Amino acid sequence: MNLILLGAPGAGKGTQAQAISAKLGIPQISTGNMLREAVKNGTEMGLKAKAAMDSGDLVSDEIVIGILRDRIAEPDAANGYILDGFPRTVAQAEALDKMGVVIDRVLEIYVPDEKICARMSGRRVCESCGASYHVEFNPTLKDGICDECGGKTVQRADDAPETVLSRLQVYQEKTAPLKDYYQKTGKLLTVEGQDQVAETTKLVFASLGIED
Ligand code: ADP
Ligand code: ZN
Repeated sequence: MNLILLGAPGAGKGTQAQAISAKLGIPQISTGNMLREAVKNGTEMGLKAKAAMDSGDLVSDEIVIGILRDRIAEPDAANGYILDGFPRTVAQAEALDKMGVVIDRVLEIYVPDEKICARMSGRRVCESCGASYHVEFNPTLKDGICDECGGKTVQRADDAPETVLSRLQVYQEKTAPLKDYYQKTGKLLTVEGQDQVAETTKLVFASLGIED
């Protein structure tokens, strides 16, 4: 199964992608996590991406399409994958089509903008493995320590309130048109993101026809 998760920044795509990945045994492919990794490692691509990311802008289609193409060619992606954060522009969606990728389902997690802003302040991510948490809605067992790998959990620089607003604008302008793009193919499903992660997961599994 090849799945796309759509939704505003902070809607919970990453968290739900982790849950689906654990359930179906197919990898979560997060372009955001891959880009942050490149920034952390100071690669040439990371240097190019950093300024755009810090200001809440999108990284160029060329860079992102390149890393995505390489990633889905890895052996663990052979039986399907969950795309989290890609495509984010119509050009990226068209690039997927051109690669011959067949998408089975596009799942939109819808959360109103007002809620997004409140949520972002509590988001924490693991520095080592990229797992995401929320201080209130999805806390780690031990304060500041990742449940998955024992790494340190931190707040992302682009989760600052000013940057969150511009990321939401970018989403409305560049990514929201993808809803129409996939609506036309009959593959779009929408669930409303709930405050409780487990509640959202139930809705997500139900809409994908996965046994809980
Ligand atoms: P979010 O929580 O906003 O969904 P991500 O972790 O998916 O965040 O992405 C963080 C940043 O990485 C984005 O704001 C953007 O700068 C960059 N990025 C991630 N995926 C893409 C993409 N498909 N196209 C362009 N830029 C991307
Ligand atoms: Zn971790």
